Amino acid sequence: MEETKIYHDNDVQTDILKDKKIAVIGYGSQGMAQAQCMKDSGLDVIVGLRKDGASWQKAVDDGMDVMVIDEAARQADIIHLLVPDEVQKEVYDACIKGQLAEGKTLSFSHGFNVVFNRIMAPDGVNVIMVAPKGPGNEVRRKYVGGSGVVGLVAVEKDATGCAGQIALEMAKAMGFTRAGVFECTFRQEACSDLFGEQAVLCGGVTELVKAGFETLVKRGYPPHIAYFECFHEVKLIVDLLYEGGLLHMWGVVSNTAEYGGRTVGPKIIGAESRKAMEQALDKIESGAFAKEWLNEFRDGCRNLDEMREKEKAHELETTGKRVRSMFEKS
Ligand code: NAD
Ligand code: MG
Repeated sequence: MEETKIYHDNDVQTDILKDKKIAVIGYGSQGMAQAQCMKDSGLDVIVGLRKDGASWQKAVDDGMDVMVIDEAARQADIIHLLVPDEVQKEVYDACIKGQLAEGKTLSFSHGFNVVFNRIMAPDGVNVIMVAPKGPGNEVRRKYVGGSGVVGLVAVEKDATGCAGQIALEMAKAMGFTRAGVFECTFRQEACSDLFGEQAVLCGGVTELVKAGFETLVKRGYPPHIAYFECFHEVKLIVDLLYEGGLLHMWGVVSNTAEYGGRTVGPKIIGAESRKAMEQALDKIESGAFAKEWLNEFRDGCRNLDEMREKEKAHELETTGKRVRSMFEKS
């Protein structure tokens, strides 16, 4: 395996951001966390939002210097675009494009709009990515606690010769270099991120637990037993994996669990599932998934809303709600 360079605090000694202004556009999960961390690290941070938007008052209450997006983009040297991926192009076209000038930097936390050719910055503008491997609340919680989440940086266009340093300094200011930051390309980040959330994390895990739960309930097992077995305990197993890897987990569970898991697991995630994973990745890499999702969004998210509604009524959800309210969380 090729050795990946991991950047820690000491590897970032430049001070390019000292006299630069950073506009964080959007104040949601990532915007709020990243703006607060960079500000606490002493950087000159402003926040660009819609005047009538729900986040405006929140950002003001948090002590942020808040202004409309065009104005933030005009004032800033670095424009860090943290509105949802599906509206980034519209926000960019309406409020940011006109404020870009040579020497400025356009920055992202996900490569979606660059990789799928929706946002193309003009010549002379740096295009970088600074992305946490974790949700916004985790970014903030760890930063405040003196540590940080793992991060990644990428440079799509280095117009000024120091785009990479800017990305690393931002990563440091958000605590990512306390944990470790690695470099990748926009394409690697965008495609692997979409694949991970579809096949394993958000899509894979939810379908796996639903299928397991439904199988037991269909055979007459009580729903609360199925819930504990196929849902609740997922966290305990994932914690062990996170802590020490596969072998560590196998070492903690019983030999019976290990033998059964090792022999049956590959039948559950068999050739058909692996084929489906290949197909999901093909669809991501070709841009077909991005196109499908943006069409769905343009269409008012009708299919998405339907799926949300349907799942609300799933017995796993109703059982879970009931069971969670009956037991103390440790
Ligand atoms: P979010 O949905 O939490 O927040 C979006 C914010 O953007 C809102 O609070 C609002 O302030 C603003 N906004 C929404 N619609 C807008 C519009 N039409 N015009 C102007 N402003 C609007 O988004 P997020 O999850 O923080 O994602 C931001 C970026 O970070 C995305 O590129 C995402 O892929 C990336 N990212 C997110 C996570 C995560 O865990 N949430 C992790 C890594 C990277
Ligand atoms: Mg991800």
